[in-house]
This record gives sequence, C-alpha cells and structure tokens, in this order.
Amino acid sequence: MNILFPHDETREGQKDFINDIIESIKNKKHLLAHAPTGIGKTAAILSSILPFIIDNNKTLFFLTSRHTQHKIAVDTLKEIQKKHETRLKVVDFIGKKHMCSQPGAEILPTGQFYEYCKHLVENEECEFYENMFTKIGYSAEARKFVEEEGHEIESVEEFLKKAKETKLCPYELALLKTKKANVIIGDYYHVFNPSIREALFKKSNKFLEKAVIIVDEAHNLPSRLRDMMSTRLSTLVLERARKESQDERVLEILNEVENMFNVLKENLDEEKMVRKEDFEFENVEEMVFILEKEAENVKAVKKRSYIELVAEFLLKWDGEDEGFVRYLEKTRFNDKEIIRLNYKCLDPSLNMEEIIDKSLLVLMSGTLTPLEMYRDLLGFKREEVELKEYENPFPKENRLNLIIPDTTTKYTKRSLEMYKLIGDKAASFSDLIEGNVIVYFPSYRIMSSVYDFFVSKGKKTVLMERQGMGKEEKEVLLNKFRDYQKVGSVLFAVSGGSFSEGIDLPGEELKGVIIVGLPLSKPDVETRSLIDYYDYRFSRGWDYAYMFPAMIRVIQSAGRCIRSEEDKGVIIYLDERYSLSNYFRCFPKDFKAKVTKLPEEHIKKFFKSNQ
Ligand code: SF4
Repeated sequence: MNILFPHDETREGQKDFINDIIESIKNKKHLLAHAPTGIGKTAAILSSILPFIIDNNKTLFFLTSRHTQHKIAVDTLKEIQKKHETRLKVVDFIGKKHMCSQPGAEILPTGQFYEYCKHLVENEECEFYENMFTKIGYSAEARKFVEEEGHEIESVEEFLKKAKETKLCPYELALLKTKKANVIIGDYYHVFNPSIREALFKKSNKFLEKAVIIVDEAHNLPSRLRDMMSTRLSTLVLERARKESQDERVLEILNEVENMFNVLKENLDEEKMVRKEDFEFENVEEMVFILEKEAENVKAVKKRSYIELVAEFLLKWDGEDEGFVRYLEKTRFNDKEIIRLNYKCLDPSLNMEEIIDKSLLVLMSGTLTPLEMYRDLLGFKREEVELKEYENPFPKENRLNLIIPDTTTKYTKRSLEMYKLIGDKAASFSDLIEGNVIVYFPSYRIMSSVYDFFVSKGKKTVLMERQGMGKEEKEVLLNKFRDYQKVGSVLFAVSGGSFSEGIDLPGEELKGVIIVGLPLSKPDVETRSLIDYYDYRFSRGWDYAYMFPAMIRVIQSAGRCIRSEEDKGVIIYLDERYSLSNYFRCFPKDFKAKVTKLPEEHIKKFFKSNQ
C-alpha cells in the first residue's frame, strides 16, 4: 500500500507504527497505540491513512483534547499536500464559541453558549447567521467564500482571520466547508458527544460508517468521556438563579429545590452518597418546563441563565443509575462554602458502542499504557482491536532515570520529619542538576509542606505553581522559568496539573525532573465508586481507578524532560514505592532505572559525560 509520507526518511519505530496502521486498516481492526514522543506519530498516521481515505471516499477525523495540538496535524497535512500534490480538503474546527463572531461569546460556559446561539438563531437575531442563508439555501456570499478557499489547507486561526472580515458566521462557514472535506480536525466532543456529533454530521453530510477517527493524546479520552456525561448543581447556581427572576412559580420551584438541598445536607461532613430518590420531585417535567420558559426570557436580555442550568440538572438527574454515582459534597468557591450535588459518570464506554461498531478508530498517545486498561475502559472487544506498544526512540544515554527509595508521601508515613527529608533531598539533587529543574508534588498541600525545608537547603531560585492560576499567569511563570535556563532555577508544580502535560521545554530549558511521591487520587466518593465499579466490570478496580491513573500522571510529568533527540536530562523518582514491583510494572516496557540511595555520583557522572 502506498503512503503519503511527508519527509525523506522514517524514524526508528515510525516504520513499525506505519505497518501496524496499514495492517489494522486491512484487517478492519481498531488500533490502540502507545507511541512515545519522538516517533513521529502524526506523520505516520496521516501518511498511512490518507490513501485509504482518498481511495474509499471516507472522512478522516483527527481529534485532540487541546486546541494547541491541532497545529502539528495542520502543518503535517500542508507538507503532505505540498510533497504529494494531493487535493485534500481540510477543515480545522475549535469550539463553536471560540469561532463565534458575537462579542463576548467566548466567556460563556460551553453549555450556555450553545443555548445562547440557539436563541439568537431561532429569533433571527444573529446577523452573521442570517447572512449565511437565503430562503432556498446558502447565500451567494457564503458559497463564494468557501469556493475561493479551494484546496488551501489552513489552521483555524488563518481561517478565522479571513472569516471574521466578512459578515458571515465563521462556524457555519466551516460547516459548509466540511461538506466537501475529507479531513476534519476537531476536539473529542465533535465526535464523542452524541448531540454535537449528530448536529455536525447532519450539516456536513458525514456518517460514522464512512469515518476513520484518530484520537490524539488518547490517554485523556476516558476522563473526557466521563465528564461529558456528568453534571452537577451547586447552592451557588441556585442563589444566582433566584436573582434572575421575580416570577412566583419560578421562585417556588427554586425554593423547593433548595429545601431539598437543605434536607440532604443534614449531617454532611465533607461528602456523602445520595440516592436518586433522595432528590426526586413529583412534577419534575412541569418544573423543567417552567424553568426553561423563564430561562428564555432571561436570555432575551442576558447571554446566560442560571435558571437554565437548574433545569438541565433536573433533567439529567433523572438518568440511569448503572455506571453513575450520585453524591453531595461540601466545597469552597472564592472563600465561600458551597454545597454541590453531583451526578457523575463512572463508565466512559457508555457512548462508545455505536462509534466502535460503525467506524474505524486509531487511539494514540505517548502514555497509553497499560493498553489493556484503555481497551477495557472504552468498551473495545478483544477481537476487534490491536494493541501496540513502541519503544522510546531517543538515545538511552541521553536520560538518567533514578529511583530513590529513601522517602515516601504515603499517608501513614507523612510527618514533619518526612517533609524535611524530602525537602533536603530534593534541594540537594536540584543543585546537582545543571540547569532548570521541575519538582512535581502529588498535591498543593504536600508542596507547601515541603517548601520551607527545600528553600532553606537549596541554592536555586524557586518558582511556584499556585492553585487556580489563569492561563496568562501560567504563561508568565513558564517564561520566567525559561529565562533562568543559564543559571538554573526550580519550578514547584503538581503532578497532573497544567505544568505536567502539554508544555514543551526543549534543550537547555529543562535539565531535570524530580517526582516527589505518588500522585494517587484522593480516596473520595468518586474514586471509591470507580474502584467498586471497575471491580464489578473488570475485576481490576484498584488498578484501573487508582494505581494506573497515578502512574500515568507520573509518566506524563517525567516525559517533560526529554522532548527531542538532542535533549538530555535526569529524572528522579523520589518515593520508595517506585521500587516495588506493584508500581514498577506500570512503567512502559522499555523503562530502565537505577534504584539507588546514593544518586549524587550518578548525577555528577551523567552531566560530566554529557558536557
Ligand atoms: S450563529 Fe454563529 S455568529 Fe451567530 S451566535 Fe451562533 S456561532 Fe455565533
């Protein structure tokens, strides 16, 4: 089978990946691939799948969990188009609200934005939408815009720049483009959220039977799927909803809901399980009808309505029990205590059956191990999926993995002495590492417990991630960290947080990573319910709900250190549990580490030999 490879040579591991993709297509099997950074997975997957797409009149969906990951797909497609003179039609999508031309749309929560847009469209109040259509179909202006686009491959930013110069709806323009597109780049929810998929496929004339779906960074898929099916309602939303209306019936309903909250929260310590019937109303349909009607009135004046959120929650709460957990929790928002009722999905496979049956899926990630877990959680049957694991392609001598079994953050062993020991060790290792170091902690609490001990011992400047930091603040912090690369500084961050995934610190920007403890989830109601549910489904509750997710966070954090063939660095696993076989088995098959209580010599030797 021909491939449309964009470069002159394939990399180590890349060829195997390409062959496995071709085999999967031939055998009509889905593929789950653990493909570490550096293999060149985007070029491999696109070049091997595109001939199949073109020859069989299929549509390729390239889905990512973050918008920033679209760029590499767009760039690779541009290279393929240039080298092989293909006539691909590509549409790059982001969330509708980020494409919208209405001022202020971007700040709305996603669910509310959809209602806002629907309201404007239904009431013929969106001029951009109105300009898209005439009574008999698309307007001449809209058709002309799309025709002029031709086969040019462009990122969504490039597309939006042009689209926003018109008086047309950019999202609808992109949708019009999809009718002839054979590649659609988007977010997971464009395909995995049933109502969004239905709307998108209907307008773009696509079918699951004709779709090949690539899921990038697929280790995020199970949790994203669960989030899509979950919902919650808090006392804060109820309070804000009440301020939106003077209507007696609406206020009566909100009071009724609040009274139910008051009954439920009796004897609430931190959180407790709740049954469906504990929060049931006799006339829920009528209540929802009245709330939705009032929400329409609110939205005629404002963009968002909290009343609508209450109505949505009441509807969803009526859903299934199997695969879900219901619980009440006490939490804080801006220093204010709030009570939140959660209806949380435990089973990511609930919406997968139709997609697995009808289309072809390739799920890939640098941390998709153990592959069996993803197969089980997502609902693939053994016989319909291939599981493939590829080796890390970077030179082994460029990284030094050290497991230091001197300390632990295990709950029963936490103490001031232990935090001091962790702080002392992490500080002295950071000083030995020549350049910038990130120290990852399992939680903000442990981070602050270790902080004083660390700074009193260490010589390097310490920068710190704070809980609830905004996007811009994070960018400023990261740039500050980069600026220290010559003298070396230390960034304190949390495993599983925004500095442990999706950031690139190549070359001298990062020379070492220290992972303190094990980032296990809090054993709260949700985690315990997941353990029970996965025990019931797969007899692997502890592994699938607790241990493997923690180890995936560890591997993600460790992965920040070596991002290219030239990168060299030290990765230290600072907890005694990493040396135990139960945890060690969770690392990828090609993982090699030295277990040592005397790491200083190893670190010095590593930097000396890499000078
Ligand atoms: S129709 Fe388009 S421009 Fe109008 S609100 Fe919706 S997304 Fe925005």
